[in-house]
Amino acid sequence: MICNTKIGILGGGQLGKMLVQAGSRWDLNLWVMDKDFDFPAAKVTNQFIQGDFTQYDMVYQLGKLMDILTIEIENVNTEALEKLEEEGKEIYPPPFVIKTIKDKGLQKEFYKQHNIPSSPFMLVEDAKEIRDKVKQGDLNLPFVQKARTEGYDGRGVQIIRSMKDLDRLFDRPSVIEDLVAIKHEIAVLAARSVSGDIVVYPSVEMSFHPTANLVEQLIAPARIPVGLEEKAHDLTKKLIEDLKMVGLLAVEFFITDKDKLLVNEAAPRPHNSGHHTIEANVTSQYEQHLRAILDLPLGDPSLKSPAVMINLLGEEGYQGEVFYKGLEECLTIPNVHVHLYGKRETKPFRKMGHVTVLDEDIAKAIAKAKKVTETLMVVS
Ligand code: ADP
Repeated sequence: MICNTKIGILGGGQLGKMLVQAGSRWDLNLWVMDKDFDFPAAKVTNQFIQGDFTQYDMVYQLGKLMDILTIEIENVNTEALEKLEEEGKEIYPPPFVIKTIKDKGLQKEFYKQHNIPSSPFMLVEDAKEIRDKVKQGDLNLPFVQKARTEGYDGRGVQIIRSMKDLDRLFDRPSVIEDLVAIKHEIAVLAARSVSGDIVVYPSVEMSFHPTANLVEQLIAPARIPVGLEEKAHDLTKKLIEDLKMVGLLAVEFFITDKDKLLVNEAAPRPHNSGHHTIEANVTSQYEQHLRAILDLPLGDPSLKSPAVMINLLGEEGYQGEVFYKGLEECLTIPNVHVHLYGKRETKPFRKMGHVTVLDEDIAKAIAKAKKVTETLMVVS
């Protein structure tokens, strides 16, 4: 009985909360671990364990109590997960996948070894090595510097265009990538079950906040030619198979000015680019992840309606106890679905919630999303 299987989720942020909400429909026995009871997932379950998922002992002990362990964030203690896997515990995604993906350097090397198209790169140890390479003519400006670990939502990524920019290099082990001329950024979600069945979702188009480097708006389906959509699906399928992934994999692609597809990065878990699937697709990404790790039949990934998703970010200039200004007015707009994560404190650009807007006519959905953006403000 799936209801008896104890599933531990490392991470209790919004993704953990939405996993718990999906699992509660089938009365799944989910346990969440994160640092404190203020985290979003703690609001929807009393099976919340206070603990630090970066600590070996905490992860190992939780794993011992569970039948399956999964994640909603990559920054977990993979040594403990490897030990548990060795002892026969089911860990999805497999620790190898988490280890490969949480280090952007290992991720890029994996793409190279498996012929997955991605931008040319080199690995460096620190800022000095980068400056030396530029001086010696081994590295040309402009380029993109990405900290190998612990960067997310654009933090830890910077474009270096001029000699002057070299003053602000991160002094950390980094990936140096060619600066790609990007026409579009899209994401494709896929899931692979324990038995190896795979489903792929229609791609979504992402646009980014100009300064915060966070996804500001996401449009499903992406408005790209059928040929590119098919290629993106094929590459996503190849990647999820090559990784021997179990669970959801979100793959972010660049479409270059020459209409070439390059994999930017992947995430082995439910993802921001799949929030809309709760209302817009037959099977939400959260339910799909649970189906995959429980080795249940995978659900239909198709879109029921075009959708636009916007992240609700803390307004600049406000910090403190959160207040959602304009919420009631937004709720008067038809087919607008508001999700508030339950974070007590707002700060600039913190992800506080998201809104999914559905409309058969994508232009109308975009217009409604614009209205929501102008009306709903996360302030204090
Ligand atoms: P994060 O893991 O923090 O989300 P990404 O690697 O996705 O970081 O980079 C954040 C954004 O920076 C991308 O969505 C893209 O807009 C831009 N970017 C990243 N790599 C490149 C590149 N090689 N060329 C041009 N822009 C890039």
